[in-house]
Amino acid sequence: MTDGRADILIIGAGAVGLSAAVFLTSRFGFEGRVVVVDRDPQGARSQTVRSAASLRQQFSIAENIRLSREGLALMEDLKARHGAEGDIGFREGRYLVLCDAEDRDALARAVALQRMEGAATLFLDEGGLQDRFGWLRADGLCGSLGQGGEGWFDPWRLLSVLKREAVSAGATILGGAVRQLDIEAGRVTGALFEDGTRIAAGLTILCAGCHTPQLLERAGQRIAVEPVKRSVFSLATPDPVPEMPLVALPSGVWVRPEGAGYIAGWSPPDGDDPASDPDDDAPDTLLFEDRLWPLLAERIPAFERLKMTGAWAGHYDMNRIDQNALLGAVPWREGLLFACGFSGHGVQHALPMGRALAELALYGGFRSLDLSRLSPSRPEALTETGII
Ligand SMILES: Cc1cc2nc3c(=O)[nH]c(=O)nc-3n(C[C@H](O)[C@H](O)[C@H](O)COP(=O)(O)OP(=O)(O)OC[C@H]3O[C@@H](n4cnc5c(N)ncnc54)[C@H](O)[C@@H]3O)c2cc1C
Repeated sequence: MTDGRADILIIGAGAVGLSAAVFLTSRFGFEGRVVVVDRDPQGARSQTVRSAASLRQQFSIAENIRLSREGLALMEDLKARHGAEGDIGFREGRYLVLCDAEDRDALARAVALQRMEGAATLFLDEGGLQDRFGWLRADGLCGSLGQGGEGWFDPWRLLSVLKREAVSAGATILGGAVRQLDIEAGRVTGALFEDGTRIAAGLTILCAGCHTPQLLERAGQRIAVEPVKRSVFSLATPDPVPEMPLVALPSGVWVRPEGAGYIAGWSPPDGDDPASDPDDDAPDTLLFEDRLWPLLAERIPAFERLKMTGAWAGHYDMNRIDQNALLGAVPWREGLLFACGFSGHGVQHALPMGRALAELALYGGFRSLDLSRLSPSRPEALTETGII
């Protein structure tokens, strides 16, 4: 890094930061100097590339449903703009969200909201589940099933398409680890890097994923977001389940097809989910044998002969209050916007989130999608009742 200046400095070249850079420079035509900094601009240390890169329309908050629908439309638009080079490999594959009888009403309400928002989700009771999915042990369960516009994609390709568009529209992407935000008279004026250099900025946009809370805390501000580790397991089986959707079990286990096999993970119940070191990327392989496999095989007997073929780990930027993103200005610091707290659903929302940050930066308000309920100073929790 060398000292420098930017009109807009974006910290973090994950999907959210790069999307903000694309909207500022390429789509909205901002002509000032936009600099994106990342401690690893190749993306290898981003949560974006550690994610399961899956997109669903099954949320219980209208904003999240809209973000997913817009996210998908903006992914399709990348292909329309850039042809084969803009293809991020989106593959249709439905979500099947399962719950116990006690959560039936909450699930039915979420399905009604999704349908109102234009997502054709179906509600299925135990009989409906058993009729459709012979491989599922459905006793005591009900579920919701997406009918289109859900699936998964290649997060590496997403980063590379965004990077290419941002750079060709004039953004500068630099390597450098931010130590702290610079603050003068209560205003954020740029960033100080680990090597002692600085970038001065008119506006700073902080999109450092699960490192954002730490950088805010060094600026004297706490938010209720913590890094929590999530391991993902690659699985093979001699008894594959044909055309299986992404299945989310009430236990917090999820599994979906990936290539010729599957990937799976587990979100433990709250209270059993401690904060972790965001730089500890060792997967918790014991978790597979001890918890995940028994929970999976209990509901999908064909998975009794599963074999783990690989594993990786990343960290959710978990909003401990309501598991939803915080997006916008920091009321107590001028010159700063941030987005974090995605709690495991940020990569599917990254494109409209970046667009929203660019709108706040250039126009001072939302133009495309009103996301004011995600304000960092929201008075009420926006708690999701679905999967996290
Ligand atoms: C195992 C797992 C599975 C997931 N599955 C899904 C899924 O299926 N669907 C979904 O929508 N979401 C999923 N997520 C969540 C998703 O990955 C994140 O919400 C999303 O990637 C956040 O993007 P981001 O750009 O905010 O952060 P990141 O992608 O983490 O980017 C932040 C960038 O900031 C950089 N950075 C951090 N600190 C500094 C610093 N001090 N100086 C400079 N640079 C810094 C990092 O190097 C990184 O490149 C999953 C997450 C995990 C861990």
